Amino acid sequence: MSRFDYDLFVIGGGSGGVRAARRTAALGHRVAIAEEYRFGGTCVIRGCVPKKLFVYASQYSEHFEDARGYGWSVGETAFDWSSLMAAKDAEVQRLEDIYSRNLEKAGAQILKSRAVLEGPNTIRLLATDQRVTAERVLIAVGGRPNPFADMPGAEHCITSEQAFHLKRLPERIVILGGGYIAVEFANIFHGLGVQTTLIYRGHNILAGFDTDLREGVAQAMRAKGIDIRCEDTLQEVRQKPDGRFEAHLKSGEWLDADEVMLAVGRKPNTENLGCETAGVELDHLGAIKIDDYSRTTAQNVWALGDVTNRLQLTPVAIHEAMCFVDTEFLGKPTMPDIETVPTAVFSQPEIGTVGVPECAAVDKYRHLDIYLARFRPMRNILAGRNEQMMMKLVVDGETRKVIGAHILGPDAGELVQVLGICVKAGLTKDDFDRTMAVHPTAAEELVTMYEPSYSVIDGEVQGR
Ligand code: NDP
Repeated sequence: MSRFDYDLFVIGGGSGGVRAARRTAALGHRVAIAEEYRFGGTCVIRGCVPKKLFVYASQYSEHFEDARGYGWSVGETAFDWSSLMAAKDAEVQRLEDIYSRNLEKAGAQILKSRAVLEGPNTIRLLATDQRVTAERVLIAVGGRPNPFADMPGAEHCITSEQAFHLKRLPERIVILGGGYIAVEFANIFHGLGVQTTLIYRGHNILAGFDTDLREGVAQAMRAKGIDIRCEDTLQEVRQKPDGRFEAHLKSGEWLDADEVMLAVGRKPNTENLGCETAGVELDHLGAIKIDDYSRTTAQNVWALGDVTNRLQLTPVAIHEAMCFVDTEFLGKPTMPDIETVPTAVFSQPEIGTVGVPECAAVDKYRHLDIYLARFRPMRNILAGRNEQMMMKLVVDGETRKVIGAHILGPDAGELVQVLGICVKAGLTKDDFDRTMAVHPTAAEELVTMYEPSYSVIDGEVQGR
């Protein structure tokens, strides 16, 4: 008989924590999982899922416009924010219930409480002021938006968390940031009819992505009417007597807005978690330090997902959880593999990307062949929409391996899931060339770009 109450205690009921708890419990181990708020974590409750529902909602304005080119007369349209919110809330609730049910079915004990560490094997449940012990503890408490507290007036601003619960759709919004969240929400609000301004401190939005993708998406967003201001930032936000806000930019301008949204990164939820007491060390950003197997600096304590500083993506947290269970409960030491992770930005147009951007590949590869296609996808022609689609393959000229694939346009997220398999598998450009096109699709372009658009040899662009 174990001297501990549980074989595994998971703190945090998000994607990573739930997967680890469910899988371990299903193996017959005694598992408890504590969650202080709602099961599903950032992804289900206040991230990926409601965001994607908002993205769908925001796309209808363009669908209605495009329909005319296909012979449809679309009557007067109207959008009702509260109907969308209610539908979104119902769907989030449905998913949350599934998460809880699956945990119960697997045999995990659900504890609705904040849990803090009191030692490497000891956890205190604040709701019941109860102390429990576990042979292994897994921290999967995620992160939260950076509150940007040093900026005067930050308290007047919303983050993505409040954006999911706004009582009213604003008429004008100012969004600070140029990453995933800022860009996705700028497009959501714009699509729903909100006058949207995006403020980004750098040269162009979506730092770290392929340059052509960044330029393409910024150009398309501006063409739709989103006001993107680069090389600027917010210095202060003031509330006016009428309850609205004024956002003061570094460039000197004051912008009026009904809401100001901050999307300047996220912070790990390590405050008051008892990490120090348990010997769990944090890095300079407050994230839990882990080794290749998600072990923290405390024996018997592991951490995964956004509370660590690996890669803040839901599928990564789930994969880390699977690896943790394989290693600790199935005797198969497995390191998470976060090389060549495909990802999508649900901007409008959408981005799907996997592997190395051209600008990063230049430093690592002597000879690159770049295959680049820009075209109007068929669906845009009758619709009278000028938006272009872009596809780019970055190929190592020496091995012919496709080392990066970048798509901008409709369904790019769906396409890159499949393309991700090809790039992960190390397929060559010749494999792509041997693959028959599926016609008529936009994706056929991926297998019909026979000649490089240009090459980059020893850092020099040739043939463009
Ligand atoms: P990101 O890290 O993507 O972007 C943060 C943005 O804030 C960057 O543009 C950054 O600028 C800017 N920023 C940071 N600090 C400051 C500052 N002091 N002043 C002004 N600007 C600043 O974070 P997000 O919050 O957008 O998203 C968090 C994470 O969540 C993402 O990294 C992603 O992993 C995940 N996510 C994934 C999604 C998906 O898969 N589709 C969707 C949403 C989130 P700079 O570039 O100059 O550093």
